[in-house]
Amino acid sequence: TTFSGDDSGDLTPRQTPGALYSKAVPTPVDKVILLAWSDDLATKLGIQKPAEQQEVDILGGNHVTDTMYPYAACYAGHQFGNWAGQLGDGRAITLGEWETAPKQSWELQLKGAGPTPYSRRADGRAVIRSSVREYLMSEAMHNLGVPTTRALSLVTTGEPVLRDMFYNGNPAYEPGAIVMRVAPSFLRFGNFEVLAARKEIENLKQLVNWTIDRYYPHITGEDKVLKWFKEIVDRTAMLIVEWMRVGFVHGVMNTDNMSALGLTIDYGPYSFVDDYDPNFTPNTTDLPGRRYAFGKQPSIAYWNLGCLAGALAPLFPDTKQLVEVLETYKDVYWPNYYGMMGKKLGLDQVSGEDIKLIKELEETLTAIKPDMTIFFQLLIELPLDMTDASAVTQHFKQSLYNDLSETEQEKLYTFIQKYVTRIKANTCSREASQELMRRTSPRFILRNYLLHQAIEELEQGKDDLFTKLQQAMKEPYSDKYDEFFQTRPEWASQKAGCSMLSCSS
Ligand code: AMP
Ligand code: MG
Ligand code: MG
Repeated sequence: TTFSGDDSGDLTPRQTPGALYSKAVPTPVDKVILLAWSDDLATKLGIQKPAEQQEVDILGGNHVTDTMYPYAACYAGHQFGNWAGQLGDGRAITLGEWETAPKQSWELQLKGAGPTPYSRRADGRAVIRSSVREYLMSEAMHNLGVPTTRALSLVTTGEPVLRDMFYNGNPAYEPGAIVMRVAPSFLRFGNFEVLAARKEIENLKQLVNWTIDRYYPHITGEDKVLKWFKEIVDRTAMLIVEWMRVGFVHGVMNTDNMSALGLTIDYGPYSFVDDYDPNFTPNTTDLPGRRYAFGKQPSIAYWNLGCLAGALAPLFPDTKQLVEVLETYKDVYWPNYYGMMGKKLGLDQVSGEDIKLIKELEETLTAIKPDMTIFFQLLIELPLDMTDASAVTQHFKQSLYNDLSETEQEKLYTFIQKYVTRIKANTCSREASQELMRRTSPRFILRNYLLHQAIEELEQGKDDLFTKLQQAMKEPYSDKYDEFFQTRPEWASQKAGCSMLSCSS
């Protein structure tokens, strides 16, 4: 397949009807310095760590080999529930594809390598703050076992980039940086939406068929588009189950940030929840609506899938079947969600009664707002013979951000009593149940305040914490890095920027 592209190389911001991508060469920077390199991913790809400056230069867009064909993809999207029209890769440039085996290729993409025709009024650049966040978190999510795009390298550019600082609202320069992102494909719902909106039905058909052939080769036959949509519904539902498992809040679930492969894509103002709060959004741009809050993610994913269905509708004589498939979202999401929660609780199976228990747990957590990660760790070690509320409160003390009122203590105690009864009814051993819990609930998470601290240090030329976090994130289920096993400190909840960021970060 040869896609209709715009090969002019013209970087002027503009609409590109008829084109699925535009040629966009990286704009060279002052000096490319390698700050981080993912050995794990490099090994998987069979790429050696750059030894010479010319190789490092590739990671900063200063050197483009003649086997590369750099381009920016054209996509649109619904942002915060509204149709936003053409967006496209405004600061991402794909260099090409790296093949590790026949039909197994990886898109290598530089994020922050300068303007493209899709940059609109922005600069096409990224700062060290957002680049460190994307680099670390995509690798951390991978190690947590969550489907995600990856990051191979992080470089600084030696050039200052103008950004509005999120602490005090004053414009400030920040050091520029570039991440090389890696995924089989960065295709999003928005790549299909833009073609439907423009009524480019032939292009839409071509892109859909190509996506299926290339990334879903097991899907064939007359009704392959429908089967493909079903698989995206399933993958998206399972992705959100994974986010809920580890307490990840994406923060910008616009349809241009929804992967056509079911991956976590675009690490912006994301955060893990510290204190359990379904209403928590890490994105200052998401206030006051809290559309992308932790607890809303399952329903927003469904809404986004509705947009994708809308984009695919022109390929169907009527939309009945598409809607039926869309409606299976809840049948995939909820059983898998409860199954996952059952594992977090160490249950050998999940019955209808257990679902009630899980709902009661959610209510209890919402009421007492303990640290989600620490609470589930303490639950693993719960003694099964506690006979009063204060002992239970004492057991969970390390996870609490506030002293509990008597009512709250009673609520927790009531839940724990039911839970203990249920655990005793397990047909597996206590050890097996605890092992299940340990595998399901992470002990180390990359908290926003840790990222914040690491970035501040990096900006001062120190990389101790940055290095430590890179090690810890490789073993999120072990207790090896218990120096980080503590609630978010008081200073971090006071300081804006440690818990919230804006879209442009
Ligand atoms: P996001 O909220 O990160 O998904 O970005 C939404 C859109 O804005 C995408 O099309 C991005 O490519 C574009 N964008 C974000 N930041 C920049 C930037 N600094 N320069 C150019 N385009 C940008
Ligand atoms: Mg995006
Ligand atoms: Mg972004």
